[in-house]
Amino acid sequence: MELNENARVDTSQVDDRRGSGGGGGMGIPIPTGGGRGGIVGIIIAVLVALVGGGFGLNAATNGGGDPQQGDNTSLEQKCSADDALKQLDCRNALYVNSIQAYWRTAMPEVFGEQYKPSKTVFFSQNVSTGCGAADSGVGPFYCPADDLVYIDLTFYRLLADQLGAKGEFAQPYVLAHEYGHHVQDLLGTEAQMRRQQQRDPQNANALSVKLELQADCYAGAWAKNATGTADEQGQKIFKSITDQDIQQAIDTAEKIGDDAIQQRSGRPVNPDEFTHGSSEQRKQWFTKGFSTGDPKACDTFGAGQ
Ligand SMILES: [Zn+2]
Repeated sequence: MELNENARVDTSQVDDRRGSGGGGGMGIPIPTGGGRGGIVGIIIAVLVALVGGGFGLNAATNGGGDPQQGDNTSLEQKCSADDALKQLDCRNALYVNSIQAYWRTAMPEVFGEQYKPSKTVFFSQNVSTGCGAADSGVGPFYCPADDLVYIDLTFYRLLADQLGAKGEFAQPYVLAHEYGHHVQDLLGTEAQMRRQQQRDPQNANALSVKLELQADCYAGAWAKNATGTADEQGQKIFKSITDQDIQQAIDTAEKIGDDAIQQRSGRPVNPDEFTHGSSEQRKQWFTKGFSTGDPKACDTFGAGQ
């Protein structure tokens, strides 16, 4: 992958709350199985497995109070410097720019609906969200209540060191997956799925898997079209995305499959407990999105099991 050094990072698409010290208290353990939490994190299960599940999302209905507003001043400065793309946070902001540029065009084209932008909140350790207080331990997630993506960027180190997903392209894949949830929120897919879970609690996990796999597929559709995305001045964001990059995304998808996670944590593999999909399924659906480049092909809900 090569980013275009002339692309301008639009930091207004992120909300940098790393300096503000968080403020959320410790939450109750996350409801990983029941799907009643508002959170649709990429790998909640991973971190619960790794960290022990002591922290998590407080899914109280009254949320986490007034969300804090970050301060983008230093990020803005950093990301307008010549060597901006050497910085992890600036690169991540640029990935967000690319993902949203894609959906701005694709959503009306494919689904006939307007895309509404969503910011990504950079936080460190803990954060208040519309879905309650969250801890880094839950991993990156999307909160449908405030329409924001949340990530503690130190997560990538954990992804590389503990799960072995080392490639840089793991990063845009993770973000594209979370924005996939935002698109599902905008399209009403997420709300529909939650209602279905309430009607059919037996299948709550299976329904969650469909939602997650669709987000993987949307990430694949973005990856296919990413080299066509540009910044506000029309500068291409990516110079190139190679087969190796795509392989890194697939590799990451596999590493965070529910079966892989269960195995890693020394538990027996139990498909009934899957909430995000097996390694094979995650690979398959990302690949489906990538090979077709068409979000319409991501109908995990209509696709049998
Ligand atoms: Zn997810």
